[in-house]
Amino acid sequence: RGLTKHFPLRRGLLGRVAGQVRAVDGVDLRVPARRTVALVGESGCGKSTLGRCLLRVYEPTAGQILFRNPADGGTVDLAALDEAALKPYRSQIRMVFQDPFASLNPRMTLLQIVGEPLRVNRGLGREELEEQVAELLRRVGLRPEHMRRYPNAFSGGQRQRVGIARALALSPRLVVADEAVSALDVSVRAQILNLLKDLQDEEDLTYLFISHDLGVVEYMADEVVVMYVGRVVETGATDELYGRPLHPYTEALLSAVPDPDPTARRQERIVLRGEVADPSRVPAGCPFHPRCFHARDRCATEVPALREIRPGRKAACHFAEELELRGVRS
Ligand code: SF4
Ligand code: MG
Repeated sequence: RGLTKHFPLRRGLLGRVAGQVRAVDGVDLRVPARRTVALVGESGCGKSTLGRCLLRVYEPTAGQILFRNPADGGTVDLAALDEAALKPYRSQIRMVFQDPFASLNPRMTLLQIVGEPLRVNRGLGREELEEQVAELLRRVGLRPEHMRRYPNAFSGGQRQRVGIARALALSPRLVVADEAVSALDVSVRAQILNLLKDLQDEEDLTYLFISHDLGVVEYMADEVVVMYVGRVVETGATDELYGRPLHPYTEALLSAVPDPDPTARRQERIVLRGEVADPSRVPAGCPFHPRCFHARDRCATEVPALREIRPGRKAACHFAEELELRGVRS
């Protein structure tokens, strides 16, 4: 709620603070238990920063991270806890990273990699550790004997399975998957996505699925949150949002989603003018106005609030009610 992360922008030899990078700017979003909420937008829109704030890898500048503990039904603000109080929650929220090559230490065996959180947090002895790692490897489609081997013995898809096993080691409630299949070959992407779906069902997992790939998001997500320069510009159930976007930025993103049916008449791709706004110089008014084909005078001066346009559908556009925007496959 109101989650904000500003980084100081330093310039010159003395590193004087010359401004703020408004990476995440007052974001409200809700991730219901056992659902998948996708966070989408072009690179630099703040989605990864937001994911890292949830785990307090980055300290939020302002706002709350309200986490409902299934054990007692109580809600705790993770942003307000000190390190000691935060520790038990660190095992409840885990992350799967984009690059399975960079995120696994090449000098550690899979036993060490997947077992590390168990060793550190649960203090398991050798035998128990091996048993649990074997079970985790099985669950992600690898074999127990793989635990003796090093990451370089595995393909990209297999390494991402290792990354997922490591994320699941402490039985988290929420998994933040940041571009979890973006670095993988198209041929193995579907396997990893299906694994994530199966694990969600088996382990009652909740996903915050960060991705710039709207084809993948359509397959994975129950709900979508679209971000633009650190702010939420649209939210809604996936099928509704894809069928009829309410924000011109969403319309442009959707126009680039490939249609799985090659014979279908393609809608024209909307090529946005200009670049993604620089989060250290967010435009006045609607941050999207310099690129928006529907912009009017008011857009350059007045910031559109994120508001409910229809039940369950929010958008931050002054004209969301009247624009007839195109979705996909509708
Ligand atoms: Fe475009 Fe104006 Fe809507 Fe912003 S508020 S998205 S500039 S029409
Ligand atoms: Mg990113």
